[in-house]
Amino acid sequence: MKILPTKMLKPYNSFSIDENAELIIEAETTQDLIDIWSSEKYSKSVKLPLGRGSNTLFCGPFEGIVVLNRLLGKEVEEKGNDYLITVASGEDWPSFVEWCVDHDYYGIENLAMIPGCVGSSPIQNIGAYGLELKDICESVEYLDLNTLTIKKLEHSECRFGYRDSIFKQELKDQVIITAVILRLSKIWQPLLSYGPLSQFNATSNTAKDIFLKVCEIRSNKLPDPRLLGNAGSFFKNPIISNDHYCLLKEKYPELPAYEFGENKKIAAGWLIDNAGLKGFQINDASVHKDQALVLVNNGNATSSDILSLANHIKTKVYELYQIDLEHEVRFYSGSKETSLTELF
Ligand SMILES: Cc1cc2nc3c(=O)[nH]c(=O)nc-3n(C[C@H](O)[C@H](O)[C@H](O)COP(=O)(O)OP(=O)(O)OC[C@H]3O[C@@H](n4cnc5c(N)ncnc54)[C@H](O)[C@@H]3O)c2cc1C
Repeated sequence: MKILPTKMLKPYNSFSIDENAELIIEAETTQDLIDIWSSEKYSKSVKLPLGRGSNTLFCGPFEGIVVLNRLLGKEVEEKGNDYLITVASGEDWPSFVEWCVDHDYYGIENLAMIPGCVGSSPIQNIGAYGLELKDICESVEYLDLNTLTIKKLEHSECRFGYRDSIFKQELKDQVIITAVILRLSKIWQPLLSYGPLSQFNATSNTAKDIFLKVCEIRSNKLPDPRLLGNAGSFFKNPIISNDHYCLLKEKYPELPAYEFGENKKIAAGWLIDNAGLKGFQINDASVHKDQALVLVNNGNATSSDILSLANHIKTKVYELYQIDLEHEVRFYSGSKETSLTELF
């Protein structure tokens, strides 16, 4: 393990919020994690595992130890027409996806360029361009923080949902994901249901073509956190009843919606844009000028600026559509996780 000489969290969260932790430690092995969690020296401190901090907002100084996950390694096993790939949780997700594409391990290409560590991917069941982590996840290995032993959950036990899993529910704060086991294919079967990908086909296009297209769309659409602090989609797309949708549709005929079981999933970005909030700014925090679902730090935004902006959006959206937006980004205040509802 490596105890960092700095306490500054700014380089470790994609919003580039300038807050401190009591201590920052890099864990490079499972044993490091066990040592940190069992150490007498750190026993009184709260410990927070962090990947790349690209789904995290520090709402003040973190009163505890931030443990950066740097567990590395990949193992590939052939299973008939599939590959089972065991990836250590500290591997960088975007680099891992590119590595799979370069090795002809098919089925992951739509999830290109999602910032973060592999170990964070099952937590909110990351998704993009018609594919979710759950579609390729075989099982998840974790360190049980109560017993400090390694355990494994099979796909069906992970209770994946839309931006959700058991790791955000019953197992929240109880585990550290140490590896993710993915099932990828030897057979090229692209997933092209998402609009801009429908121009491609399985015979004349390769996985690399899809990968490059997804990278191109994402680079044009989303601000690069290295240049403009952000955490991707700030809010989840809300799920509302059909009755609620029909009422809104009368008032807003353009309202985009997708079937979601017996309900409808509504595009949160449209709700925010239609509320006239694109570009809306509080101090140095603003709604991105092109992507209403992305809140950005224009340089010197504080967490209070981001929170005030998020709360303003939530209030406005509720007033207009009676929809309660839920944030996808995880908030930490003091030594605990918190939420907009708790803070305002
Ligand atoms: C520009 C941009 C685009 C994005 N696009 C998408 C997208 O298309 N789809 C999508 O789903 N998301 C997207 N996101 C969100 C983000 O990339 C994902 O949520 C990603 O999985 C976060 O990974 P991370 O390692 O940075 O997580 P972190 O922010 O470091 O951690 C997130 C949470 O998981 C916990 N955690 C981290 N590692 C572990 C572990 N090993 N064990 C247990 N708990 C852990 C942390 O304590 C925290 O609560 C985007 C973000 C950005 C900045």
